[in-house]
Amino acid sequence: MSLFDLTGRRVLVTGANAGIGQAIAVEMAKAGAHVICAGRRNCDATLAAIADTQGTAEQAVADFADPMAGKALVNEAGPLDILVNNAGIIRREDSVDFSEADWDAVMDVNLKALFFTTQAFAKQALGKESHAKVVNIASLLSFQGGIRVPSYTASKHGVAGLTKILANEWAAQGINVNAIAPGYIATDNTTALREDPVRSKEILSRIPAGRWGNATDIAGTAVFLSSKAADYIHGAVLNVDGGWLAR
Ligand code: NAP
Repeated sequence: MSLFDLTGRRVLVTGANAGIGQAIAVEMAKAGAHVICAGRRNCDATLAAIADTQGTAEQAVADFADPMAGKALVNEAGPLDILVNNAGIIRREDSVDFSEADWDAVMDVNLKALFFTTQAFAKQALGKESHAKVVNIASLLSFQGGIRVPSYTASKHGVAGLTKILANEWAAQGINVNAIAPGYIATDNTTALREDPVRSKEILSRIPAGRWGNATDIAGTAVFLSSKAADYIHGAVLNVDGGWLAR
């Protein structure tokens, strides 16, 4: 069997109705996994895309406006081998005017929900020697400051930190915890940037690969980090950024 094969594995992907999460769900299914696609809206389009590739999937509803919603989600999903914490939001405003509501909304979805969903997953998986895998979706703003996105930057630095502490605690107990730091990927999340002619030109000119990333660029890495090929990778935050951070 290929080191990258996911046949027989059950994976939960949060925010699987669109963008990067949808691409991850589809590529996981293509690699053989059964995918539970979680969204606050329905994941019909993702399920249809997976059916087109003869993969298997189901959907579940979870709104991380309640950051503890992942506990019920995990418990209702049945046995899981892989968790992809992808759901995330961004709010843009000058730091001097940034509101408490925009701080709390982003921290709840991007950081608190990620932690407690992962905790629920770990309660099932710890000690089972099943090579369970957690893949967190971090950001370039896990390393850099960004501008006008203070809660997003704080949350994504937090995601990198949680990836490391959870790897430290669970590496010897059968769970790999890693993260992907996507560069600039063309999704709804970056529409505002791509529509700003000045910012989009600045960004593109700094990417060594000379193009924005696409969601499938991230999905392939998620499959890798979920596979047996990544059994000895713990606590890594892997840049998938067209070379941005190398520059
Ligand atoms: P996206 O298209 O906006 O997708 C975000 C996903 O998160 C959607 O499925 C969204 O569901 C879901 N979500 C948002 N709020 C939620 C909530 N309260 N409860 C449950 N799900 C919720 O953006 P994306 O670019 O694919 O982002 C996916 C992840 O990649 C995020 O963590 C983001 O921070 C990260 N990322 C993206 C980029 C990039 O360049 N695009 C770069 C670095 C990191 P709805 O459709 O219902 O809103």
